[in-house]
Amino acid sequence: MIVERTNNLFDMDRAALEQLFVRMGEKKFRASQLMKWIYHSYETDFSQFNNFSLKMRSELAEQFTLELPEVISQQESEDGTVKWLLQVDEQNAVEVVYIPEATRGTLCVSSQVGCSLNCTFCATGAQGFNRHLSTAEIVAQVWVAAKMLGHTRTERKITNIVMMGMGEPLANYDRVLPALNIMRDDFGFGFANRRVTVSTSGLVNKIDQLNADADVALAISLHAPNDALRDTLVPLNKKYNIKQLLDACKRFVKDKKKSRITFEYTLIRDVNDRPEHARELVRLLSHVPCKINLIPFNPFPGNAFKRSTAVAVEQFKQICQASQYITTVRKTRGDDIAAACGQLAGDFMDRTRRSASIRQLQLEVV
Ligand code: SAH
Ligand code: SF4
Repeated sequence: MIVERTNNLFDMDRAALEQLFVRMGEKKFRASQLMKWIYHSYETDFSQFNNFSLKMRSELAEQFTLELPEVISQQESEDGTVKWLLQVDEQNAVEVVYIPEATRGTLCVSSQVGCSLNCTFCATGAQGFNRHLSTAEIVAQVWVAAKMLGHTRTERKITNIVMMGMGEPLANYDRVLPALNIMRDDFGFGFANRRVTVSTSGLVNKIDQLNADADVALAISLHAPNDALRDTLVPLNKKYNIKQLLDACKRFVKDKKKSRITFEYTLIRDVNDRPEHARELVRLLSHVPCKINLIPFNPFPGNAFKRSTAVAVEQFKQICQASQYITTVRKTRGDDIAAACGQLAGDFMDRTRRSASIRQLQLEVV
């Protein structure tokens, strides 16, 4: 499914490429041959595609592009986390973050420049919304990171992809879906379904659509055990409340059988981190097969919230675990390069329009 007319082949999943080759009077299998060049060999020069005739190579080069955003910077944290800033157009840049751990390597991918949903604890939300990323711009984040890391089919530096960078992936559904297909296609990046996670703050109608269209893992940014509190943290809750959200989650796990939902819960000091919140949460989730991922709040300029104390985090975790939930606390990674959850804002934007609004926020908070 392609939203805009495009001639950038990075915008197209295998089904779209097959249609394109058939329209050109070629066989469908040309699509997988092309994908192997671009996703397995990182080759973007049509003239090098030596299993295509010279005529076809020049036809492709005349009619199509293989365009990738420019890498503006690469920053590496003391803990090994790497953040790349990709220039997607003259005014906008997005961030993609690689988080290496002992047994896996997670790539955190952005779906929009900014985000319109305005959760009160999120730097991306504070930035406002600039625009959706195209499929190519989403796929390019994986492509650039994979190439830079020396990721290959046999040496898999990236083992998991999470759509937890800038933006709300389900608000950009039609461009995100082909990107999810390319990530999971054997001729694309070849990630297993369960290793590609879509994180959403709760666009209920799109969760149902995703359920029908793609077998991926789902993470829900819950952050509060009741509507009154969630309304203040995630404004989208006023449109789709917790009951509607959990009903969609139940439909998702029912159809996907073995999968569980991950509920993400950012712990903000004295806001949503008390034992009574934890107890309310375990009651709330009792009918949804799930695990809980606690994220100690990551501060950013202009925001008055504070991270929960270590004691509060531990207490919250223990209450969840005592009710038999698999509960993890997300380690803060890449803090020194502003790469932690919720800190991504796109540095390039910071230097232009957004820096003014952040300064304004700081003035209001002080
Ligand atoms: N828009 C999607 C995905 C991007 S945010 C979503 O909201 O799910 C990825 C995760 O980081 C979400 O769970 C989000 O709530 C969380 N997050 C946002 N700001 C944060 C912050 N300042 N500290 C910790 N986690 C944060
Ligand atoms: Fe958008 Fe997610 Fe940030 Fe909310 S937490 S503002 S949905 S990116």
